[in-house]
Amino acid sequence: MLRIAIQNKGRLNEDSIRLLKEAGIAVDDSKRKFLAKVNDFPMEILYLRDDDIPQTVAGGVADVGIVGLNEVEERGCNVDVVKHLGFGGCRISLAVPKNDEYESLDFFRGKRVATSYPNILSRFFERNGINAEIVTIAGSVEIAPAAGMSDAIFDIVSSGGTLVSNGLKEVERVFASEAVLIANPSLSAEKKEILDEFLFRFSAIERGRGMKYLLMNVPSEAIDKAIKILPAMRSPTVMPLAMDGWCSLHSVVNEKEMWEKIRQLKSIGAEGILVLSLDKIVL
Ligand code: ATP
Ligand code: MG
Repeated sequence: MLRIAIQNKGRLNEDSIRLLKEAGIAVDDSKRKFLAKVNDFPMEILYLRDDDIPQTVAGGVADVGIVGLNEVEERGCNVDVVKHLGFGGCRISLAVPKNDEYESLDFFRGKRVATSYPNILSRFFERNGINAEIVTIAGSVEIAPAAGMSDAIFDIVSSGGTLVSNGLKEVERVFASEAVLIANPSLSAEKKEILDEFLFRFSAIERGRGMKYLLMNVPSEAIDKAIKILPAMRSPTVMPLAMDGWCSLHSVVNEKEMWEKIRQLKSIGAEGILVLSLDKIVL
């Protein structure tokens, strides 16, 4: 049994549950429970506040967890970052009142900076030889300058809208974060095996992301050209049609290249091109 800690509510909750569901792990997301079993996979789910996830995994109360890299870095817990998950992207930045003149990090010498990430910030200031006062507050960091609690802030930014509406401007991007899968460094062999199966499923989902399944009819004499346009995983599937002189060709393409490929395929005589969504790719 592998116990995974995920956020009980908040920004990472939905995407964490979606990821588990895509991996075929049926999650009961009624959220009323603190600890929930799943039916068809040897996993149980522990719903926690994100602040508590790194420590819970480091201490072995949970085996793995899904949490922002910012929380892992701030808490400095002994966990392995197993996988970057591609959601929950944000950065932690220094921001100052928008009318303040800002040229370099020297701005912060002797200033008060409010943050919920005092460890990441003090390491950053130390690396850059800046002596500033760090004011640690738990939430609503963006209002600290207007409230006279600080001269600047160090806080999470994604679009930057919150900064603007509080009369602030982002001046230094210090730490880039996204949701990560973390694991206790000393998992048993049995738990590692379950984690590997989970990672295997996850990589199939990742590979399928942005990929489309294409099928079309191609004149037999144009098949060689079509294969050059569509390299596929090993090579495209080509099947004869009941009508002489035509084949059916199946392949997988990245959505980004799809329209260009379709244009090229049409120009060599392909017809009846179908584009299907793809869930997972197992190599
Ligand atoms: P909890 O109640 O679990 O402690 P929280 O309020 O601390 O929740 P959320 O606001 O739900 O946390 O954010 C969780 C994580 O989502 C952050 O730690 C960060 O990694 C990520 N994130 C992505 N974009 C943003 C954003 N714009 N603001 C805050 N966090 C973001
Ligand atoms: Mg939190």
